[in-house]
Amino acid sequence: MDKLTEELLELVRLAACDLPPDVERALQRARDAEQGRARSTLDWMLKNVEEARAGSIPICQDTGSLVFYVDHGRDIRTAAVRAAASEAAAEATRRSYLRPNAVHPISGKNSGDNTGLGAPYFHFHELDGDPGALRVRLLLKGGGSENCGVQYSLPDRALGAGRDLRGIKRCLLDAAFKAQGFGCAPGVLGVGVGGDRMTSYMESKEQLFRELDDENPDPVLAEIESELTGKINELGIGPMGFSGQCTVLGVKVGLRHRLPACFFVSVSYNCWAFRRRTMVLEDGRAIYS
Ligand code: SF4
Repeated sequence: MDKLTEELLELVRLAACDLPPDVERALQRARDAEQGRARSTLDWMLKNVEEARAGSIPICQDTGSLVFYVDHGRDIRTAAVRAAASEAAAEATRRSYLRPNAVHPISGKNSGDNTGLGAPYFHFHELDGDPGALRVRLLLKGGGSENCGVQYSLPDRALGAGRDLRGIKRCLLDAAFKAQGFGCAPGVLGVGVGGDRMTSYMESKEQLFRELDDENPDPVLAEIESELTGKINELGIGPMGFSGQCTVLGVKVGLRHRLPACFFVSVSYNCWAFRRRTMVLEDGRAIYS
């Protein structure tokens, strides 16, 4: 196994088995604010997180799809990164960090190693500056949460949502309400407003890489994020739908310029098993966060 494959294998292991610190902190805060069944549910989640970390065991049985975001200098060959990441995914499956999760869309036959037609998924972005720079971000997106993703085209008459801030907020409340019973709560909403259908969804997933306790530099978006986190939590759905104060750990919103005739609001839901990790090469060494 070459060096890059080994480094990416470690990235996959961390993503699958070691919940990021900001997500764990948010779950702890939520646990401390809850009582009864909601509190014990969060306690079990946190115990699960500790055991997964200690034993390099997947946090959830659905280890999700592998979505790689690769930012690279001009000297980095994208084909080499793709090959190394695919080999890392296959080896991670052999080591049981990942469940075999790539099935043929028609036959349903499982490839057995998380590789296949267009799998894993990659987004490449070339950077200016250091030609040898490499940053790889990995999102493991489980099926229960991915199925809760939704795209609205405003105006939406059924929802009473126009092309304005009020309309956007209605979409987010609707998405969170409809996710109950599907994506394991408490979750996080990544939101893309604007763009075309594809880039709007891309923006919504990009938002999932933000730290949960950061603040949006755009005051209008910061206000939406804070207001909607509060309003969704007032729905009372609670951890795993057992009712309680915490239905979402956060809402993160990004914008893309849109066509005058289009107004998309795209939501990517991520469950409490919020598996995202980053690897950056610094002076030839892999640094993980
Ligand atoms: S929604 Fe998340 S926590 Fe629930 S089964 Fe799917 S991956 Fe696991």
